[in-house]
Amino acid sequence: MDNVTPQNRLPILSLICTAFGHNYIITRKITNHINEYKCTCCGKEVSNSYSGNFELLTRKQREVNECLSSFFKKKKRLSIH
Ligand SMILES: [Zn+2]
Repeated sequence: MDNVTPQNRLPILSLICTAFGHNYIITRKITNHINEYKCTCCGKEVSNSYSGNFELLTRKQREVNECLSSFFKKKKRLSIH
């Protein structure tokens, strides 16, 4: 068995993305302004932050989004009642 990580499994597709740009789709809505995206081509996952920049969706970023998401839902629920 070799130690190939999922990200490095399809180097040719990554090259296509590098040349033509990633083809992101929204995989998860966090707030009205923040989403998680996944590239349909190479599978790279990113998220946009409050500053509006795309950031690599690391485990830490995912946790931050998880907090934001639950906070946002709570806030939304409170504002309805
Ligand atoms: Zn890509």
